[in-house]
Amino acid sequence: MNILGLLQTFILGNRSPEWPNLRKEHIKKQPFCQACGSKNNLEVHHIEPVHLNPARELDPENLIILCGKNCHFIFGHLMDYYSWNTNVVEDSKVYLSKVQSRPYKIKKMSNNFISNFYRRLSWLIR
Ligand SMILES: [Zn+2]
Ligand SMILES: [Zn+2]
Repeated sequence: MNILGLLQTFILGNRSPEWPNLRKEHIKKQPFCQACGSKNNLEVHHIEPVHLNPARELDPENLIILCGKNCHFIFGHLMDYYSWNTNVVEDSKVYLSKVQSRPYKIKKMSNNFISNFYRRLSWLIR
C-alpha cells in the first residue's frame, strides 16, 4: 500500500474512497432525518452493516439518513454502536409519522399578550 492509501485508511477507516461523495449525495437526496424529521446533524447509516456485507457499502438502497442527535444511536443501532437495527427503515417510518402528527397542548397566552390585546381594543372603542 502506498502512502496515500495508508493515509486514506487512517482517515476513512476501511471506507471506500467514494464514500465521502456518496454520503454527500445521499444527504442531498434525503435531506432530513428519516426518524424525526430533523434537518440538523445528519448522518448516513448503513441498513445492512458494512462489516456484514462490504459489497453493499456504496449501495444507495442500503443507506438511510438519521440525525446524530438521537436517531442514529437509537433507531440505527438500538442504543449500542456495536449492534444494529434490522428494522431501521420500518421503525423510522412509524416514528416519523408519529412525530409529524404529534398533538400539542394549547399554549397559554402570556399576560403581556393579553394586556396588549386589551390596550389595543380599548384604543379602538375609545
Ligand atoms: Zn432524528
Ligand atoms: Zn449507523
